[in-house]
This record gives sequence, structure tokens and C-alpha cells, in this order.
Amino acid sequence: MNVVLLGPPGSGKGTQAQFIVDEFGIPQISTGDMLRSAVSSGTELGIAAKKVMDAGELVSDDVILGLVEERLQKPDCIKGALFDGFPRTLLQAEGMTEIGVVVDAVVELVVSDDVVVERISGRRVHQPSGRVYHLTFHPPRIPEKDDETGEELIQRPDDTEDTVRERLSIYYRQTAPLIDHYRKSSASYFKTDGTVSVEAIGAAIRDFLRNI
Ligand code: AMP
Repeated sequence: MNVVLLGPPGSGKGTQAQFIVDEFGIPQISTGDMLRSAVSSGTELGIAAKKVMDAGELVSDDVILGLVEERLQKPDCIKGALFDGFPRTLLQAEGMTEIGVVVDAVVELVVSDDVVVERISGRRVHQPSGRVYHLTFHPPRIPEKDDETGEELIQRPDDTEDTVRERLSIYYRQTAPLIDHYRKSSASYFKTDGTVSVEAIGAAIRDFLRNI
């Protein structure tokens, strides 16, 4: 089962991805997390990507498709994968088809711009695992520490308000056309309000995915 999570930055894709991974036993493929890990290990790719990411812009389709193709060779992807933050352009969606990935289901999380900005400014991340928290809405048990490892949480450099607004405008220009693309495809499509409780969204997504 290949599932794509669609929605603007801050719509809760990362949070919901954790539930889906636990329930359906497919790995989360987050191109954002993969790029951040390349940045922190200081690879050539990471150094080049950092500038683009910090400005809230998109990394090139070729680089992203190369990363995803390599990731999909790993044995844990045998039953499919959950794509979080990928594809982000029509070219990436086409590239995905070319490498043989058939998208079975698409989940779209709908959230207004103001809510996105409010959410992102309070967002904290446990970098090694990709676990996401929010100072108000989903606080860690101990402030600024990951619940499972106790390690320090960080605020991403691209989570400032100006950069978030730039990321939103790029989302509408480059990624939102995927909504139409997938609605016209053979994938099952589920659009859901991303502003109700994390648990309610998780339950709705689970119901949808169990029945595809
Ligand atoms: P995310 O964590 O998914 O919000 O991604 C953080 C940043 O990584 C984005 O703002 C982009 O700069 C870059 N990025 C992540 N995924 C992609 C993608 N599929 N295509 C292009 N750039 C991406």
C-alpha cells in the first residue's frame, strides 16, 4: 500500500504519519527528514540543500527523486510506504510513477494559513526520530525534551513566520496542483479537516485506509 499525505506545511502530516506507520506497518518516507539528516551529517547534498531549505524554497526535483528512489530499494518498503512531504510538484508525481510506484491512497489535510503560522511557531522536533511536538497543542512530557529518548528538541530554522509564509505561497503554486492530479487518478482520495483533534483526525484516516 502506497499512501501520499498532502497538505500545507504545518497541517499535521508528520504527526499523522506516526499513527499510520504504527497501524499499517509501512515506513514513513519524509523527504524533509531525509534532507535534514543530510544537512546534519554535512554531506555535499546536505550543504547544497540547506540554503534552499532555510529560504523555504523547494529542493530540485532530480535530487528529491534520486533520494526517494534510493530509499525505496530498502527491504522495509516491500509492502509499500507512506510518503510525507513528497511528491511536492507535478514533476515529482510523474517521476514517482516512472520509477514504478503506484499510489493507492491520498490523504489531504486541510488547514487555513493563520492556523499554519500559529502551529509552526510553536513546533519543536526530535531530529533523530522525526517526532514532532508543539509547545501548546502536543507538549512533550518534559519541556524541550523528547518523550522517548529524553534528548533535546529543536526549532527548525525554516519555522520562522516569514519563511512559513513563503513556504505557504510555494505550496499553493507548486504542490496544490497535485490535489487535482490525484483526484483524477485511480487513487482513493480522502480530504479531512486538519484542525480537529489529533486523535479524531487519526481515527478518520485509519477508517479510510482500512477500507481502501
Ligand atoms: P518538510 O519537512 O516536508 O516541510 O520539508 C522541509 C523543506 O525541505 C522544504 O521546505 C523544502 O525546502 C525541502 N523539501 C522537502 N521535501 C521536498 C520535496 N519533496 N521537494 C522539494 N523540496 C522538499
